[in-house]
Amino acid sequence: MEDTGYIGTMERINILAGVPEALRLLGEAGFERVVVTNQSGVARGIFGEPDVERVHRELAVRLARHGAAVDAFYYCAHLEDCDCRKPLPGMAHRAAEERGLDLARSVVFGDRGGDMAMADALGIPGILVNEFGVYDGPEPLFRVRTLLEGVKLFLERVHA
Ligand SMILES: [Zn+2]
Repeated sequence: MEDTGYIGTMERINILAGVPEALRLLGEAGFERVVVTNQSGVARGIFGEPDVERVHRELAVRLARHGAAVDAFYYCAHLEDCDCRKPLPGMAHRAAEERGLDLARSVVFGDRGGDMAMADALGIPGILVNEFGVYDGPEPLFRVRTLLEGVKLFLERVHA
């Protein structure tokens, strides 16, 4: 999604170009597509967990219109004192446990240092979708402009 700050309302949902195709390609390659997102706005009292879940449902509906899907959404509603706020790897561990995923054969796509740091914590590749923005996080495996570019690169050079 376009980063428009705290996600609390549907008006702020804007799926970036190429994302449905990127998700389709990952699905066709046999990957589960799991979203792990920090939503500290809940802990800050800016919006509630039902709002986060409503946005995830709306995202799923919009992706389905493009023939794409996310297999699961996990979010951290906390600000501190938890094991799931990225860069901590708790959400990925929970997803792996609940869904029977092999983390060693997984990959993280993200646009923040926290995402790449989570990949490092998991010992798996991190692909930074942010070629021109300011970035001072851990070195990713690849740095790309779009999720689609990153997925294609990963499938061609790493997964193949
Ligand atoms: Zn948390």
